[in-house]
Amino acid sequence: MAKFLEFQGKEWLRKSGLPVPQGRVASTPEEAKKIAEEIGKAVAVKGQVQAGGRGKAGIVKLVNTPDEAAAAAAEIFAKNVMGVPIYQVLVEEKLDIKKEYYCSFVVNGAREARSPMLMFSTEGGMDIESVPEELLFKVNIDPINGLQVYDAVDVCARAGIPAQDISKFASFLSKLSQAYKKLDCQTLEINPFIMTGSGNLVCADCKMEIDNSSVGRHPEFGISIARDLPGAPTELDLIGWSIEETDARGTGFLMNMGYDEVSPGYIGYHPIGGGSAMMGLDALNQVGLKPANYADTSGNPVGSKIYRVAKCVLSQPNIDGYLLGGFMMANQEQWHHSHAIVKVLREVLPTQKPGMPCVLLLCGNREDESLEILREGLADLMTPDGPGKRIEIYGKEYVTDTKFIGQRLLALSKEYRAEKESQGK
Ligand code: GDP
Ligand code: MN
Repeated sequence: MAKFLEFQGKEWLRKSGLPVPQGRVASTPEEAKKIAEEIGKAVAVKGQVQAGGRGKAGIVKLVNTPDEAAAAAAEIFAKNVMGVPIYQVLVEEKLDIKKEYYCSFVVNGAREARSPMLMFSTEGGMDIESVPEELLFKVNIDPINGLQVYDAVDVCARAGIPAQDISKFASFLSKLSQAYKKLDCQTLEINPFIMTGSGNLVCADCKMEIDNSSVGRHPEFGISIARDLPGAPTELDLIGWSIEETDARGTGFLMNMGYDEVSPGYIGYHPIGGGSAMMGLDALNQVGLKPANYADTSGNPVGSKIYRVAKCVLSQPNIDGYLLGGFMMANQEQWHHSHAIVKVLREVLPTQKPGMPCVLLLCGNREDESLEILREGLADLMTPDGPGKRIEIYGKEYVTDTKFIGQRLLALSKEYRAEKESQGK
């Protein structure tokens, strides 16, 4: 899912006519100070990360002066949330909070519903999991027509909103429902929205996740990859995404895993399927090797898609090996993998990476034929002095033997490193 940070989500809410506090995002303490000056009153300084509980983590700070805003920002920038650094803070007017409320719009996947659903509670501001079930009120929403006013009124009445406030709440929730639909959200959580001293409702926080499949309809979002990534997309991520985006047949997933292009021990990692990917990581972990990237070609992709993914995996400049990790079993015709891998290795090994270890583990549907395609297609490279001298091909006998596969990769990659070093590379 494409997730927005709080300040981005609030910007889209603002554009949809919803009340959000005045404020802007800052990347330095100086900027934070300047924004606080512009606002000209007490402000909230809020670290921007994809995580809840920022209040508890000490990255939501309330201050009275621009200098304090700068100091609060500096303090927040020095922190991280579960290892994720903080690059931006939202500086916005401090709210005069009379009461906090909770609402969220989510997809209710239950068979009898299959629709968006509103969850509403008068217990805002805390973790929604800790709100007692009887204080959380739910209503399914017509996916075409959105939240109906009478449903909104009903949910507010059930939650105990006083009669004189109900139309205000109902109108606020209806507007949010329209934004949820117009922006193609998968989740929109406002925790809390608050009532000010003068009785206005304001979105104090915002968690917005966009339906990945809708991203093509929203160029205005500027989302280059409709998927969660730990940070800004790398070149490999962008190429991987272009493979996924242009060919819907099977999966051809590819993403960066923090490969630094200098340290030893990185393996071009190409598992087949999610479970197999976990076993492959186990194989690498056991011997202290690391995946340079994450890839996955499963769900019966065509050979051309597998070829593109494998070519990218192998293009990583300083890797010590390549693992085609078909652990367990794949219910797909594996010869597509074989054809693709033969083509890639024939293109890459002789000219770019002679002697690089390639451990190819393949099993499942059409296994015998698939292994034969690999053996036959690579035979002339696999001679004792050939560019494919460190290709090893394994089938069903090894599909759960992560220890063996890891040890083969380790032994071969040590040889390969030593050989490269002796050649001064
Ligand atoms: P979260 O902890 O990541 O969910 O961050 P929130 O934006 O929800 O802020 C946490 C809490 O800060 C809110 O529930 C409020 O109780 C409290 N708070 C106090 N004053 C303010 C204010 O002026 N603005 C905001 N956003 N929160 C405030
Ligand atoms: Mn919150």
